Amino acid sequence: MNTTHCIFCNIITKSIPSYIVYEDDMCIGFLDIAPITKGHTLLVPKVHCSNILDFDLHYSESVMHGLQIVSNAITKALSVEGIQILQNNGSGAGQMVFHIHWHIIPRYADDGLNHWQGKATPHKAELQGIADSIISNL
Ligand code: 5GP
Ligand code: ZN
Repeated sequence: MNTTHCIFCNIITKSIPSYIVYEDDMCIGFLDIAPITKGHTLLVPKVHCSNILDFDLHYSESVMHGLQIVSNAITKALSVEGIQILQNNGSGAGQMVFHIHWHIIPRYADDGLNHWQGKATPHKAELQGIADSIISNL
């Protein structure tokens, strides 16, 4: 992909403005332009990968480090009840920007976000079949 057309590559190079809250050699954290809660931040590696399917694993430790640093800062800065880390892969999962990113979502009492509902546990044979299918594709 030509990264000049990637909105997050343009944020990384500062070609377009953003509210950067964290930056090191390998990743950058900036406020989401349409926050789902106050302080909603995106943590983005400084390499253009689409999503988890092609993510450059050399950036893994840096991303985890950035997520932890920014989460701690948000926890100190804002009166949060918790932090949710979310990462969408593919349009079917709600991904809109195809430069991999992690959402750091501060959670507040009565913020209106609902945890997903638990569903019935499938039969053992069904779970075993699914597990076998995944394992055979590793
Ligand atoms: P996705 O659905 O791909 O996981 O999330 C993309 C996120 O990027 C959305 O929450 C959206 O609000 C945010 N976003 C899209 N364009 C921009 C932008 O130009 N600047 C910033 N700061 N965030 C953006
Ligand atoms: Zn990009």
